[in-house]
Amino acid sequence: MPKGINLASKMEKQLPAELVNFMWIAGEIARTRGQSLYLVGGVVRDLLLGQANFDLDLVVEGDAIELAKELKRLNQGKITTYPRFNSAKLRWDKWSVDLATARSETYEKPGALPSVKPSLIDNDLSRRDFTINTMAIRLNPGYYGKLIDLYGGRNDLKHKLIRVLHEKSFTDDATRIWRGLRYEQRLDFHLERNTLKLLKRDIPMLDTTSGDRIRYEIECILQEKYPEKVFRRAEELGVLPKLHPALKGNGWLAEKFEQARQLSSPEPPEVGLYLALLAYPLINEETERLISHLRLPKSSAQTLRDSISLKSKLRLLATPGLSPSGIYRLLDAYSPPALMANSLATESPAASQNIHLFLNRLKYIEISLTGEDLMRLGVVPGPHIRELLELLHEARLDGKITTKQDEEEVVKGWLATKQG
Ligand code: ATP
Repeated sequence: MPKGINLASKMEKQLPAELVNFMWIAGEIARTRGQSLYLVGGVVRDLLLGQANFDLDLVVEGDAIELAKELKRLNQGKITTYPRFNSAKLRWDKWSVDLATARSETYEKPGALPSVKPSLIDNDLSRRDFTINTMAIRLNPGYYGKLIDLYGGRNDLKHKLIRVLHEKSFTDDATRIWRGLRYEQRLDFHLERNTLKLLKRDIPMLDTTSGDRIRYEIECILQEKYPEKVFRRAEELGVLPKLHPALKGNGWLAEKFEQARQLSSPEPPEVGLYLALLAYPLINEETERLISHLRLPKSSAQTLRDSISLKSKLRLLATPGLSPSGIYRLLDAYSPPALMANSLATESPAASQNIHLFLNRLKYIEISLTGEDLMRLGVVPGPHIRELLELLHEARLDGKITTKQDEEEVVKGWLATKQG
């Protein structure tokens, strides 16, 4: 076995046996094909940190798609190929493994996507964002478990530092600014001194990056355990205003995000709920600017629009003595994340209570009779059917009637007044 640090026993201990076996066999198959195969990126970082991460990223010096096709036969899994990137995803049982062809990247202009060509592992590692993400573990027999650490990633892990690989890193790709803050806050690390300086210098480069790429990074942040930490830090460093100048990463946001987690527990909050809370301080035009800057998909955009429209109705919603049907009428059109965001963000306890009443009870109240039942009872087809169904629903919401028989009585009464 060659000298250097070997992580085979760590892999054995920390990763599920099925994945360890898979990597072992994959290394053998790659060797028979004359290729070198490596485990790379976040999983290596987390292995060294002793943190659970089973998202295997493999890089091969050679054709990843061909290798993936051969590996697929081992476990009868599913393969998805991405010929444009010369990469593939294998899935079987509960596992999924990404396989990529080692590549080098060159950035022709800041913010643009790089031009890419197949290459060796060293080049593949040199295009990565931070030293802690540049480590690889070789998987070929004879080298299995050998750590490749070209940029001092292990040392930076030890000292809890986020460090870029070169001075132009954030200029090449400003999404790394958000990535850096995300890793720093997730791992409880610090941006290394020069990296911090470069990051601050390159904040204006965020303007060169497409909204789609920034949105992806924001979505990743919202999937962190404590996204508010990243936004607090982003505000402190002057990164948050690049998303929108009126956004806040303050104590209010932290409190609301925590409440959102409690409200959604045991699931983590939907991204839409977090987004609506983040965007809560914005007024209409500002929200529209954020939506178009991030090119938010329809559903998230709708959540933000719902949230702001609902905000303008909170005063009405807090009217003393408002009936359940009145609450229903005010809230029925809004999406659940917008409702939840307003229930958490409003300063009116009455409005908040009414939203909870709607979400937990009113929204599930239904009537028993259908339009056909009404016709059977003698109502003439036409607009009256709809009116009557609404009348019945209102009476149910307000607790004036509770059974199917009650509903039939209401209909009969209505028919009597009409006919009488
Ligand atoms: P996470 O733990 O958040 O999943 P990860 O390290 O697995 O982190 P991914 O976003 O899945 O991160 O990316 C995989 C690897 O690709 C990273 O470890 C990093 O080395 C590299 N990478 C991703 N995005 C960039 C980028 N914008 N610039 C350079 N390298 C990147």
